Amino acid sequence: MPTILEPGEIEAAATSPPFLYLPPRNLFTLRAQRLEQLAQGHPLADYLLLIAGLCRVQQQIFDDPPATEPFDKQRLEVCRQHGMPPFAADTLIREDTWQLYLDALLQRYVAPQQPAVLDALTSLRVASVGQLRAWAVALVSGQYSLLPAALVPFLGAALQVAWSHWLLSVPNLQLTPGDSLSQCPACGSPAMAGVIRHRGKHNGLRYLVCSLCACEWHVVRVKCVYCEQSKGLNYLSLEDDRYAANQAPLRAELCPGCNSYLKLLYLENDAEAEALSADLSSLLLDMRLSQDGYQRLAPNLLLAPGDE
Ligand code: FE
Ligand code: FE
Repeated sequence: MPTILEPGEIEAAATSPPFLYLPPRNLFTLRAQRLEQLAQGHPLADYLLLIAGLCRVQQQIFDDPPATEPFDKQRLEVCRQHGMPPFAADTLIREDTWQLYLDALLQRYVAPQQPAVLDALTSLRVASVGQLRAWAVALVSGQYSLLPAALVPFLGAALQVAWSHWLLSVPNLQLTPGDSLSQCPACGSPAMAGVIRHRGKHNGLRYLVCSLCACEWHVVRVKCVYCEQSKGLNYLSLEDDRYAANQAPLRAELCPGCNSYLKLLYLENDAEAEALSADLSSLLLDMRLSQDGYQRLAPNLLLAPGDE
């Protein structure tokens, strides 16, 4: 049913930016295409192509998902009333429905004949439901030391497609901001990166992209998304012959207050850019920032930290 807006609300709606953008239904194809482009001549080409292959499988599963019960309407209503994320990762991860998406991934994925990849897939295939749950809980809560690093991209890929599928399967979601700026209003997971939009009347607005479900929520610019201070923020990009520093499509916002950073993607400088692929193809920037003592708080579920 269309929402009826009162006159005051119409004015507010015309001037205030949408709080939320849902990911497109071809999200994983877009990621795969972009990764394949970025892999050309890239020092981490093999890794980027491996991830591109996983994104293609994610899209297949998204288009033809496992049969599961529809989302519990009562649960959605309770979450709406209490302003809680309806697809809370810390709860749903323990309910194991996502394991059907992992099963689908293990069935469909045609792995490259690399021993490390084949071993990781075998570990996932023979693991018990309880073991998989424990690894997945560790992954979504950022406790990377509690699961084998080689499993991260495959487990992360299955979780992403499960959550994005759930997110897009419920119409008319009414989401409210999370407890912190960096927390996804739909699933409670931390942001992977930020995107500065460039089209239409929302030109120049910043949206954060969820590391798990890929929804995007509005957060004002020039404010640390972790400690919420604006003082002394700095912006750093990798040197790139194609762009002047102030026109680099990817810049890290560094906060001297909490010593952390978030990567931001400026679509006006590269309209085709996409957050996950941009993040994975700029690990050199993370290495430099880590050497400078900055901590990365934004997960990318297809990469174990320290793996670069
Ligand atoms: Fe999310
Ligand atoms: Fe900060």
